[in-house]
Amino acid sequence: MKAEGKLAINGGEPVRKTRLNYARQWIDWADIDAVTEALNSDFLTCGPRVPLFEKKLCRATGADYAVAVSNGTAALHIACLAAGIGPGDEVIVSPITFAASANCVLYCGGTPVFADIDKDTWNLSPACAERAVTSRTRAVIAVDYMGQAASLYELERLCRKHGLVLIEDASHSLGTRYDGREVGDIADLTTFSFHPVKIVTTGEGGAVTTNSQALYEKAALLRAHGITREKEKFRDADAGDWYYEQQALGYNYRMSDLQAALGLSQLDKLPLFSRRRKDFTAFYDGVFGQMEEILLPREIPQSDTVRHLYVIRLNRKFLRCGRKTVFDALQAENIGVNVHYIPVYRLPYYEKMGYPRGLCPNAEDLYETCLTLPLYPAMTEKDAQDVIAAVKKVLSYFRKG
Ligand SMILES: *Cc1c(COP(=O)(O)O)cnc(C)c1O
Repeated sequence: MKAEGKLAINGGEPVRKTRLNYARQWIDWADIDAVTEALNSDFLTCGPRVPLFEKKLCRATGADYAVAVSNGTAALHIACLAAGIGPGDEVIVSPITFAASANCVLYCGGTPVFADIDKDTWNLSPACAERAVTSRTRAVIAVDYMGQAASLYELERLCRKHGLVLIEDASHSLGTRYDGREVGDIADLTTFSFHPVKIVTTGEGGAVTTNSQALYEKAALLRAHGITREKEKFRDADAGDWYYEQQALGYNYRMSDLQAALGLSQLDKLPLFSRRRKDFTAFYDGVFGQMEEILLPREIPQSDTVRHLYVIRLNRKFLRCGRKTVFDALQAENIGVNVHYIPVYRLPYYEKMGYPRGLCPNAEDLYETCLTLPLYPAMTEKDAQDVIAAVKKVLSYFRKG
């Protein structure tokens, strides 16, 4: 396909005949067999597969403990509760994330405090986070945006200095390493999402990992109503075998055995998924890194990144149109682009709470110019070439001069 062809949005031939989504799950026969086996077993939920999945997630991340839950939002909620966040507490959050990373603070009665991103890495700036600390701050939620690890050591140092809990929202970054350590083994609490667009999927699903036994026990209790059946933890030690105790106000955030069965077979493919994501990222970087119309994120040297989202920024200096025009033109070429993210405090619910526009200038600037291109392990080299052809076609048309 010629890059200089007439744009599909102007009535020309699209680069592709069929639509390419920005993300898509990879489900194979091993996954289907694993779920079928679970369906034919004695347990659809609370069976043996959930603890097996937790063990496998511990092996994959290096974490000592994992608590599998019903989705990534539930993981964030119980991580915040385990961290002790309650009414009156402030939690520092990056605005460039999915709303759930801040909503979890509100669920606990706390206040999200948005600190700006670094203008080059697009992750939470440790300097901005430090400036946001007050006597009421209890925790920092760092998001590994796009899969690149946040500046974890800087944030860890800040948290130690001010007595804060570091929660890492690693919904994008399963498989990423930071300074040689797997994500999940570093922050006080790390949360994952296994939604179908994420690195591995369980349909809906999530997990909290930690190396702290105390935080693990809190999170595990909150996942299942705050109820324990472990005798050694009972107040009333002499009760019968039917006996259980509710010791906290928890939730039904359990993962089912069907989800865990899928998760177990998906984790087998994590090395394959990671390699394919890295290969496509390198392929894109080689082309887009050479284009003046495009700005790419700066990678910190500590992060060995498994990219979840391939986000580019448009360089306004070289283009005679805005992001919306480029977005619409790429959609017309059948390239399923997306935008990640609207700064959380710009969402109407947050604006009504009083968060002002302009609060985090770097985040708003990123939002004005960013575009997510298709990236997922099941895409083909031809798919990636189509993305490149469409981006070149559209941007050369809208280039200034
Ligand atoms: C997907 C995602 C979540 C929420 O996960 P769910 O499993 O959909 O509840 C939270 N934070 C980030 C950064 C995400 O990408």
